[in-house]
Amino acid sequence: MNPDLNPAPSPGLVVTRFAPSPTGFLHLGHAYAALFAHRAAKSAGGRFLLRIEDIDQGRCRPEFEEALYEDLAWLGLDWESPVRRQSEGLADFTAALEVLKRQDLLYPCFCTRADIRAEIEAANGAPHLIPTGPDGPIYPGLCRHLTGAEQQQRIESGTPYALRLNMDKALKMAGPLTWTDLGKGEIKARPEIFGDVVLARKDTPTSYHLAVSVDDHRQNITLVTRGEDLFAATHIHRLLQKLLDLNTPAYHHHGLLLGDDGRRLAKRDKAQTLCELRKSGLKTLDILHMCGYV
Ligand code: GLU
Repeated sequence: MNPDLNPAPSPGLVVTRFAPSPTGFLHLGHAYAALFAHRAAKSAGGRFLLRIEDIDQGRCRPEFEEALYEDLAWLGLDWESPVRRQSEGLADFTAALEVLKRQDLLYPCFCTRADIRAEIEAANGAPHLIPTGPDGPIYPGLCRHLTGAEQQQRIESGTPYALRLNMDKALKMAGPLTWTDLGKGEIKARPEIFGDVVLARKDTPTSYHLAVSVDDHRQNITLVTRGEDLFAATHIHRLLQKLLDLNTPAYHHHGLLLGDDGRRLAKRDKAQTLCELRKSGLKTLDILHMCGYV
């Protein structure tokens, strides 16, 4: 167990979480996911936690956070206090980055999006040949081979940089990995599909993947339930768990609710937000019904 990130696990107890980002109002799809996690915990006599994923300070708004507490309470959910807010846990993410740095698994990347695009286009020619992972085009490795002196010089000149994982090195260090998915069985982790993933962004000293992996451990989550749109992310989360010596929860990636047009619901679909549905006179039971729980 990594002493920098040491939790106190309670063996046997199911602990789930719902981890919304307050970048918009919750919609019916969030209701489905929150109820799914709550039910998974309560039906096993376990604990349900709420986590506010607010590291993207440019897009998060206090009014969205306020509204989500109201929406979740309206759904009849209860959660433990205090609620973990990721923006208050930056020291944990810095400690995790230090652990990776000590293993020489991170490198600073000074590239802009335009640099990356130009390099990929030059290397691949046709757009359909561009290697793409779950987070977008695979990083072509421009900054991977900078010398220590070159890195230092750019850092000192004030060029903003992200921290990327050296995937080849990380894979060698971690060896083969699997995780248990309650919906899909034993899954072989394939973190290589991400390439040299960003673990600390230029504007934020962490990233979604790092913050989720650390926080699931910190909060002793034993079962991560979330939509299957995040299935691929688990490949990288599993690798980070291994490299950082974090607990590995079980996963249950559930199906997504679709709108009338057959597309998945998004925060931009105003009519389906829980506050709009509530204002239109719907009751909690109607939402449970729309989510297929009754
Ligand atoms: N914060 C993420 C979202 O709102 C969910 C993260 C997770 O469940 O792992 O999409």
